[in-house]
Amino acid sequence: MLALSFLVVSHPGAVDISEGRAISFYVRTQALTRRRLITASALLVASILCIVSYFLVREYRNTEQEATRSAFNLVQLIDRELRNTVSLYDTTLMSLINLFQSRALDSFSAPLQNTLLFHTASNLPSNDGFYVLNAAGNVIATSVPDVVLGPHVTEEPWFKVHRELDSAEIFISRPFQTSGKNGDWSIRFSRRMSTGDGAFAGVAVAQMKLDYFTNLLRGLDLGPDGRISLFRTDGIMLVQYPPIPSISTGEDLGSHPNYVRLLNEGYGSFIALSEIYQASRLYNFSQVYNLPIVVVVGLSTEYIFSNWWHTALLIGTTTLLLCLGIIWLTLLLMHELNLRQQAERSLDELTFTDPLSGLANRRFLDKTLAEEWRFAQRTGRPVSLLMIDIDHFKHFNDLHGHQTGDEAIRRVAKVINMHMRRPRDLATRYDGEEFAVVLADTDAAGARQLAEEIRSSVNAMEPVPQGKQKLTISLGACTCYAKPKDEVQVLLSMADKALYQAKKGGRNRVVAINETGLNAIKPTPETL
Ligand code: GH3
Ligand code: MG
Ligand code: MG
Repeated sequence: MLALSFLVVSHPGAVDISEGRAISFYVRTQALTRRRLITASALLVASILCIVSYFLVREYRNTEQEATRSAFNLVQLIDRELRNTVSLYDTTLMSLINLFQSRALDSFSAPLQNTLLFHTASNLPSNDGFYVLNAAGNVIATSVPDVVLGPHVTEEPWFKVHRELDSAEIFISRPFQTSGKNGDWSIRFSRRMSTGDGAFAGVAVAQMKLDYFTNLLRGLDLGPDGRISLFRTDGIMLVQYPPIPSISTGEDLGSHPNYVRLLNEGYGSFIALSEIYQASRLYNFSQVYNLPIVVVVGLSTEYIFSNWWHTALLIGTTTLLLCLGIIWLTLLLMHELNLRQQAERSLDELTFTDPLSGLANRRFLDKTLAEEWRFAQRTGRPVSLLMIDIDHFKHFNDLHGHQTGDEAIRRVAKVINMHMRRPRDLATRYDGEEFAVVLADTDAAGARQLAEEIRSSVNAMEPVPQGKQKLTISLGACTCYAKPKDEVQVLLSMADKALYQAKKGGRNRVVAINETGLNAIKPTPETL
């Protein structure tokens, strides 16, 4: 229903039309459009954010997986190479022990014995000497003439472990610096020698320079701060490439949380904050088969994700701009809708308002009355109409002039409108000094009562102009229960007839029509 009651005419004395008819069809439609617009924009922005986030997260995971895979492959390669090298040394150690203990070479001269014993060893990469010690720790055979083992050889861990444990495992020593002029780092692989009854008979030792590993790893590109490290399983650093000055070979890193974790897990990968680099790093690690060595490849996550960050920054900024653009367009559209709504309101004001009284005009009365009439026909509910006319107004005009007459019309309009309390009550200026009030869903008693209240209020109004002349009105009230084929004009003409009766009866009164059929008009003048 197109309604009017939000209209307010701006001149003094204008009457606010009752709130009840404030929600017009297009106001509701525009509110709906606005809600839909906001919902659609919010959904669009949310969808864009979700899709972009999904792709960025997926890309992040892919990058991480890719880096993990590459590092893992590297770990596997080093693992295999290490295993091969250590097993070469181990096989050589075992054949040395077998040859030595079988006494098969006893018949040869000492130099020949030495050549035959250490013949295979000389071909091993980064070989730094093989030698055999008896149970007392004395060197009884050596591939290098100037072997220096120090005064307390029997207290060295690599000697003690074999003396005290009857284990067939190879032992890998801590790295140590040789006494040569370069002070190179080496490690020892050692195996126990036992007599026939299992008693400790000595130790066979192979010494390998750690530069073997450095040469093995040299040239690998791990990106900035990328590093490969080899550890003993107790946390002793064997080799690191590229070297980092703050950690030296032989240092015990077993207490660092990340190393504790990787030494415990033995195999896998994780991202964690490095105490040494004070940055996040991706660790890939694996224990070399059955050897007490762990290979660790540590990569800087900043380097790994640097491309991802660039992409994320670019896509994130673009998405943000896109979302801001959508929000801006939505606000712009909302603003346009507001302007349109205001324009439509202004148009309605002009179309449906009586400029003098501020009430709805005749056009709006016709429209509303037709709607309420149809409603009454559908529902069987009563609809009432009051026709109101100011008494002796021609005379009033002649006496006080048209300006004062206009003011009088405004005041009466205001009083009439004050009585419009229900949402669907509507007061209109019908013509000249005549008004019409539509009372939807109101029976005869209600209409008569309201009519009498309006009459009485106008009667009690201050004289217009001040102190000179009182105004009165006459009212004709009619109530109908509209049948499907009845015309609304009947209601108007019956109310008009009632008004005529009120004038005829002496004015300043209400005449109501009791409806027992549309043609039965029974005027009932009210007692003043
Ligand atoms: P009655 O009691 O029978 O109604 O007498 P009346 O003088 O009011 O008679 P009538 O209704 O015929 O007179 C209407 C007069 O109202 C005519 C005109 O002078 C005056 N009038 C109509 N419209 C306006 C208006 O907009 N402004 C002013 N000032 N006067 C108006
Ligand atoms: Mg009149
Ligand atoms: Mg009149």
